Amino acid sequence: MVEDCVFCKIVKGELPSRKVYEDDSVIGILDINPFSRGHVLVIPKRHVVWFHEMDEELTKRVFVAANRICQKMKRAYKVKYIDLFARGMRVPHVHIFLIPTIENEENVFDKFINLISYVQENLRPRFSDKEMDEIAEKLRRA
Ligand SMILES: [Zn+2]
Repeated sequence: MVEDCVFCKIVKGELPSRKVYEDDSVIGILDINPFSRGHVLVIPKRHVVWFHEMDEELTKRVFVAANRICQKMKRAYKVKYIDLFARGMRVPHVHIFLIPTIENEENVFDKFINLISYVQENLRPRFSDKEMDEIAEKLRRA
């Protein structure tokens, strides 16, 4: 629990939320600024800023909860697919975005990702084959 953390306050019930899931370690709440119908934030109850700072047990619990929430989305709506990404910014407490794309409905996030794909393909940093081999080797050995 961190005093001025919005998500810690939501976990404690000191701020309102539209909770759709809860277990011992994790809550799932509707995002107040949804990219699409049913956009959920998956939040560990323990205050951790980045997902890569969670220990393996909490990581497992958060992603199992995310999967369970996805199954709920699929039961509740005609979901085509669900995007997932993790952040620790704006609110510095891990939150996993689950953004469903529902048949015949708009998903603004998906449009944004398509723009990002254009940027990735056209404006990304260029690495030679040799550099790519070195990067892969460095990560393998790390
Ligand atoms: Zn927090």
